[in-house]
Amino acid sequence: LSEKLQNVFKNLRSKGRLTEDDVKAALKEVKMALLEADVNFKVVKQFVKDVQERAIGQDVMNGLNPGQMVIKIVNEEMVRLMGSETTEIALRPGKELTIIMMAGLQGAGKTTTTAKIAGKLKAKGKKVLLAACDVYRPAAIEQLQINGEKQGVEVFSMGDKNTPVNIAKAAVEHATKNDFNVLIIDTAGRLHVDEDMMAELIQIKENVAVSQTILVVDAMTGQDAVNVAKTFDEKIGIDGVVLTKLDGDTRGGAALSIRAVTGKPILYAGMGEKLSDLEQFYPDRMASRILGMGDVLTLIEKAQNELDEEKAKKLEEKMRKNEFDFEMYLESMSQMKKMGGLSSILGMMPGLGGGKMPEIDEGAAEKNMARTEAIIFSMTVEERQNPSLLNPSRKRRIAQGAGVDIAEVNRLVKQFDQAKKMMKQMPGMMKKGKKGMFKG
Ligand code: GDP
Ligand code: MG
Repeated sequence: LSEKLQNVFKNLRSKGRLTEDDVKAALKEVKMALLEADVNFKVVKQFVKDVQERAIGQDVMNGLNPGQMVIKIVNEEMVRLMGSETTEIALRPGKELTIIMMAGLQGAGKTTTTAKIAGKLKAKGKKVLLAACDVYRPAAIEQLQINGEKQGVEVFSMGDKNTPVNIAKAAVEHATKNDFNVLIIDTAGRLHVDEDMMAELIQIKENVAVSQTILVVDAMTGQDAVNVAKTFDEKIGIDGVVLTKLDGDTRGGAALSIRAVTGKPILYAGMGEKLSDLEQFYPDRMASRILGMGDVLTLIEKAQNELDEEKAKKLEEKMRKNEFDFEMYLESMSQMKKMGGLSSILGMMPGLGGGKMPEIDEGAAEKNMARTEAIIFSMTVEERQNPSLLNPSRKRRIAQGAGVDIAEVNRLVKQFDQAKKMMKQMPGMMKKGKKGMFKG
């Protein structure tokens, strides 16, 4: 997006003075660029209208560089759209316990963000308790425990034999008895918005004095993220949003539309998988980033590439030793996503890139990837590392956890076996492929 917008502005600058028609023509380009960035259509329409009104209303011949002036207005409107100023999580006054409930689809980043927020609040001197209320995904409780331990905060869990609402209630009791300031409830998600998930969240809200419901959405899902936010807000009511995986999203469309569509502030931006990768959301910085002003984006990309190459090396090492497992499978998928989806990867491959792109259904392919991820997320760590453990009853449990058919689990295991065989045959392949993709 930034590149496109910069081109638009470059044209404006070189033109010198702006006429009314110039403003309109330029905004037409801005509109296209925003739509391409996956910004909600209605939001784009309103946005362009606002900017146009302001730009044409002002005298563009007042001695300023006309291009700068349009940048200024576009920037200001973007900031306004995203909420003007930073909003913090509202904590209860004094010694009162603040109860935060996390909500969102499976894989959005709830558990990770729970631990990230805990770290932030702990740094502010708060005594934080985390409650493990995702009783469906087998490794979910353990994941929260590991993350909680890393952050040095206590995790309240009652295993997976209790209902989420009971665990939440008991956690509140525990928090109150032990003078905690904040309780963060990590909940279960589904692959898509569904009634059971909503009912469960509503039930927790009815039984526990939740003071903040925070929705976690994956920025990389773009327009979908906005729809998800809208639905959650309508069904359970949300107080704020955390936009995760902004490190992998170059479009920024979700950030621009969520506030406009839900009226709820974006509290934090998830900028990576590490527990320190959570940033306060600054609308002005986000606008600058979308507009490509400043070097923030470049810096992030650079760091990401270095990280990825390191991971690729580790991956290759594992494959040499024929230790390829589902954890690695997951890792290689997320690397692919970071590199910008299937079609852009195909575009970078020698022989496929350049001119003609093969016809692939990108949407379907990405949905497939999301389902595959959900299946692997539903495995225990042990199962991921040792797929031969996967007997029919385990497969059934995994299918349930991921919300898919058992046939799909079987298919994935089969694909995995094939991939493993293939990799055994050509140990150097991955390394070469990766290098080509990064440097090519
Ligand atoms: P949950 O199902 O909503 O609890 O999602 P998780 O917390 O388990 O996260 C799903 C995946 O997304 C994990 O692999 C996380 O490491 C990853 N993740 C979460 N937040 C971010 C982020 O801000 N950036 C990146 N790159 N990955 C993230
Ligand atoms: Mg989780």
